Amino acid sequence: MATASLVSAALKRLEGKVALITGGASGIGEATARLFSQNGAKVVIADIQDDQGHSVCQELHKSSASYVHCDVTNEKDIENAVNTTVSKYGKLDIMFNNAGILGVNNTNILEYKLSDFQQVINVNVLGVFLGTKHAARVMIPAKRGSIINTASICGSIGGVASHAYTSSKHAVVGLTRNTAVELGAAGVRVNCVSPYLVATPLAKKYFNLDEDECLSIYSNLKGANLLPKEVAEAALYLGSDESKYVSGHSLVIDGGFTIVNNGFC
Ligand code: NAD
Repeated sequence: MATASLVSAALKRLEGKVALITGGASGIGEATARLFSQNGAKVVIADIQDDQGHSVCQELHKSSASYVHCDVTNEKDIENAVNTTVSKYGKLDIMFNNAGILGVNNTNILEYKLSDFQQVINVNVLGVFLGTKHAARVMIPAKRGSIINTASICGSIGGVASHAYTSSKHAVVGLTRNTAVELGAAGVRVNCVSPYLVATPLAKKYFNLDEDECLSIYSNLKGANLLPKEVAEAALYLGSDESKYVSGHSLVIDGGFTIVNNGFC
C-alpha cells in the first residue's frame, strides 16, 4: 500500500501547479484538462461552451477544477479568467492558450471574405496574444511559469488548410518565439504544440468525416491514431518541470508527416 501511494505520487507530474486552459470544454483542451488534473494540477477551464465546460469540471475532482466563461477575443474576459484563477488557487503556473477555430474551409483567395479571415485571426491569434499578455502579467512578478500555445503543422507548412488558418498558426509560432525571448529573462517559458490532424469535433466538422473515416485519415503513423490525449501528453511535458530548459520550441506531433510532405498537394 505504501509503495503504491509512493508510485502514484511520483506519477503526478503537476502536483502543486495551477493551470488555466482556454478551449478546455472540448477536444484537445478537454483531454488536457483531464490529464493535468490526473497529474495533480488545479485546473481552470475557460471557454464559451458553458454547459460543456461545467460538465467537464464536474467530472474532474470538485476541489481542483473550475469553469470560467471566457471569449478569448475579449480582453476583459481573459483578464477575468486569469484573475479568477489566481484568486481561487493563489497563482498561475501554466497557461494553455489552446482555443481555436478552423473557420471557413476555403482555399480560394479571390473568394475569401475579409470578415471570414478576420474571424479566424481574432480567435487564433488575438486570443493567444491576450492569453499570453495576461498570463505574463502574473507570471513575471512570480518569476516563473509555462505558457503553452496550440499551433499546428499549418504553422510551418502550407497547402493543408485555409489561408486564414495557415496564416493564424504561422503567427502563433512567431508569437511563441518572440515572447519566449522576452519572457525568458523573467523565468517564464513559452512553447507551442503543433499537431497534425487530431480526431476532435473541430476536425470532424471541417472535413465532414464520421468516426471511422476520421480515424483512418488520421492514421499517419502505422498502428497509431492521433487522438487529443497525445497532444495533451505533449502539453503535460511542456507544463511540467521536466521541460524546465525548453523554451521557444514548437513541439510537432505529426508522426513524421511534415518531414516527408509539404502539405497534401
Ligand atoms: P474543438 O472544437 O474540439 O475545441 C476547441 C474549443 O475552443 C471548443 O471548446 C470551443 O468552444 C473553444 N473556443 C472556440 N472559440 C473560442 C473563443 N472565442 N473563446 C474561447 N473558447 C473558444 O477543437 P480542437 O481540435 O480541440 O482545437 C483546439 C486547438 O487545436 C485549436 O487551436 C486548433 O486550431 C488546434 N488544432 C487542432 C487540430 C485538429 O486536427 N483537431 C490540429 C492542429 C491544431
